[in-house]
Amino acid sequence: KPRVYNFGDKKADGNREMKNLLGGKGANLAEMSSIGIPVPPGFTITTEVCTEYNQLGEEVAMGFIRDEIEAAIANIESIMGTKFGDKENPLLISVRSGARVSMPGMMDTVLNLGLNDDAVLGIAKQTNNERFAWDSYRRFIQMYGGVVLGMKPESKEDIDPFEEIMEALKHKRNIELDTEFTIQDLKDLVYDFKEAVKKRTGKNFPSNPWDQLTGAIIAVFNSWNGDRAVYYRKMHGYPSDWGTAVNVQAMVYGNMGSDSGTGVCFTRDAATGENTFNGEYLIDAQGEDVVAGVRTPQQITKTGSQRWAELAQVEEDDRIKYYPSLEELMPEIFKELNQYQEILEKHYRDMQDMEFTIQQGKLWILQTRNGKRTGAAMVKIAMDLLKERMINEKEALLLIEPNKLDELLHPVFDPKALKKAHAIAQGLPASPGAATGKIVFFADEADKYKSSILVRIETSPEDLEGMNIARGILTARGGMTSHAAVVARGMGKCCVSGAGALRIDYKTRTLTVDGHKYQEGDWISLNGSTGNIFEGKVATMEPELSGEFAEIMDLAQKFTKMQVRTNADTPKDAKVARNFGAQGIGLTRTEHMFFEVDRIKAMREMILADTVKGRKEALKELLPMQRSDFEGIFEAMEGLPVTIRLLDPPLHEFVPHQLETQRALAEDMHITLQEVKNKVAELEEFNPMLGHRGCRLGITYPEITEMQARAIIEAALNLKEKGIEAKPEIMIPLIGTMAEFESQEAVIRATANQVFEERNDSIEYLVGTMMEIPRATLMADLIAEKADFFSFGTNDLTQMTFGYSRDDASKFLPIYLEKGILKDDPFEVLDQEGVGQLVKIGTERGRSVKTNLKVGICGEHGGEPSSVEFCYNTGMNYVSCSPFRVPIARVAAAQAAI
Ligand code: ADP
Ligand code: MG
Ligand code: MG
Repeated sequence: KPRVYNFGDKKADGNREMKNLLGGKGANLAEMSSIGIPVPPGFTITTEVCTEYNQLGEEVAMGFIRDEIEAAIANIESIMGTKFGDKENPLLISVRSGARVSMPGMMDTVLNLGLNDDAVLGIAKQTNNERFAWDSYRRFIQMYGGVVLGMKPESKEDIDPFEEIMEALKHKRNIELDTEFTIQDLKDLVYDFKEAVKKRTGKNFPSNPWDQLTGAIIAVFNSWNGDRAVYYRKMHGYPSDWGTAVNVQAMVYGNMGSDSGTGVCFTRDAATGENTFNGEYLIDAQGEDVVAGVRTPQQITKTGSQRWAELAQVEEDDRIKYYPSLEELMPEIFKELNQYQEILEKHYRDMQDMEFTIQQGKLWILQTRNGKRTGAAMVKIAMDLLKERMINEKEALLLIEPNKLDELLHPVFDPKALKKAHAIAQGLPASPGAATGKIVFFADEADKYKSSILVRIETSPEDLEGMNIARGILTARGGMTSHAAVVARGMGKCCVSGAGALRIDYKTRTLTVDGHKYQEGDWISLNGSTGNIFEGKVATMEPELSGEFAEIMDLAQKFTKMQVRTNADTPKDAKVARNFGAQGIGLTRTEHMFFEVDRIKAMREMILADTVKGRKEALKELLPMQRSDFEGIFEAMEGLPVTIRLLDPPLHEFVPHQLETQRALAEDMHITLQEVKNKVAELEEFNPMLGHRGCRLGITYPEITEMQARAIIEAALNLKEKGIEAKPEIMIPLIGTMAEFESQEAVIRATANQVFEERNDSIEYLVGTMMEIPRATLMADLIAEKADFFSFGTNDLTQMTFGYSRDDASKFLPIYLEKGILKDDPFEVLDQEGVGQLVKIGTERGRSVKTNLKVGICGEHGGEPSSVEFCYNTGMNYVSCSPFRVPIARVAAAQAAI
């Protein structure tokens, strides 16, 4: 089996299906090459070699591929008519990483590899462009130095050691732009760079191209286990054994003068999803210049350029003179690029994010991939592609990443507050959303405040973690395709980029705009949809959901085979969830209802009462409150089932633990403080999670169950009188044995019958149980004989199956995750292997006696896409999750059924 795959000259060994082996970039380079897109020739070293390198070490792994690499280089040489390591006519190459999924900026890329003191002269002569040759050489030393030799800034306030040398020279020569360096300047820079490398690493910069190549390949392999990559993998749950491929490719040069350039483009708008070709480019520039935000990039299309000029307040004349679009500047190239973007989008049937380089009037495509996009863009693009008949309904649904829908449900600025807000500057609307927070200037300080806005001149891949923590990102430099913009869109995080009016000083930690100074810790607000930057904290409100959102939900409805319910304790939550399409309530927790001030008092009196009579009296006070709660919820969920769980938590959670409150309670109840204290002490438990809670409460104090059952049935009857249908499903928590269930069921049914008699009317209701104790899942066949339904309470079931206390797990779970003892937090992602078995067993055994037993889930997992899929495969009737996760669960459920 080959370890190296060639591409170029309209041929390729690989194709787009081979992402696991060739990485995303390599697979797509191969695909593009074979469908006739002009791609510089090259080869891909497989991800398996990366794994071999990690397991067997450098010598063995490199030994495996030495011959194949030599042959592959020879192949490039023959296509390009140049020679690697030659003095006269040298081949230069790029070494690019590329994992299975695109991890922007995660892995490092080295350009212009193969240059040394001889080759630079050959290139200069061959191209008849000395300036270009030396510019490429200094770029190479800079990149290779940074990526392979570890020449990075020594502290976060420092700048890149090579940038520092360049800045010093610019200062000395009194120039501003890289393009203003003379040839002699570039030669001096090369010399100084090499000296800096020697001084810092103690070794000469490697001059042999083959050594350079080996060094770069190893560096790419190593970057797979670099901090940034590891963090990104964790964030997305990608396993560490995937490895990265290495792409080696002939260089094409965007820095050969005014007829050359480089850029990035998107087939649709990655922020809004609009079907407009867009992107940015720079003339006389190479690779990363656009993304790094070193110079202000120009727009690809004329309309894009005009829109940009408006935001950046550039006059039309100046725009045409200094920032013309590619469409205006190089109409032929633009036409060709426009063709390729259409071809590629049709070919991949998804929005593409492409890189290109123009070398002396010839266009080369260097990368294509399914573009990262915001949640809003994701929804619009999926529906648009469907309407354009590029994809079918199922494919449209599969283009939705359920978790990303969350972004659409987040607040936007309140238009009234926005009118009064004081705008201090304008940047580019890089990633939509509303963000307010306190200013921080360093990514590793993003967690300094509860809400922070990361303010940077520009961001780099090192900042990823901080960007994730911050509420929003603001940069002074860089365009719509800058690192900050691309990453923020991927995260669905609000970002304003390229706000040129900002003066940021890292040393003094200040931001100055128009002479006004803002310090670290000052509040600012960003509007990522307009690029506006505001002073202070601007109020936000709930978003309105777009038409496409509803269309996606309709599609989900069409394909889903499982219902989605919600966990809701109040009529308000119930309404929100119903608007999102919840088909009932899977869990109403009744204890939350007791925590309001006037109720907690009655509750405490009930707990403190020593006699059944005393308890009944206190409960009488609670009854009307509970009843009206249920009426509200039933009304909000009219006609849909509502599962109500009887009181669950240990009683000690309700009694006061502070002296002040204890004293007040004693006075109220006309008892002594000591009596209150005694009761509190009496209720204290060593292990409350395994203590006196759940049905154990109802069994020791049946009056509680009685009161709750009465409140539920009376509420339903009251609504029936008003013509509103209520469908209560009464759920007994924490059952482990059949007898427990029977005892509680008897109380409930007796109470219901009594109420029916009193009112001379009746309603339908169910009595079922929570499945959350492992024993209950094993005894499910017995329990199902009596229970009308099962609802898997996977929070407790996980806790009891693993034996991890939910309240204490934060002490060790993070370490477990870090050490790879656990892949995911089992309280977030259902442990399908272990806990999942109990869910399956419980369902199967239950249905073996009652074929149509209603089964659902009401733990946190009900809104987590992979767990939803598991629930579907287990044959559940519904999942239930918090209101804002309902749309996510609905799409996940539909995807599971496709
Ligand atoms: P990333 O994954 O961070 O985008 P890439 O490998 O795509 O890294 O490369 C970084 C930049 O260098 C991109 O702009 C790319 O277009 C450019 N580049 C890579 N290889 C070549 C090449 N052979 N010729 C010219 N530019 C290149
Ligand atoms: Mg790239
Ligand atoms: Mg529970």
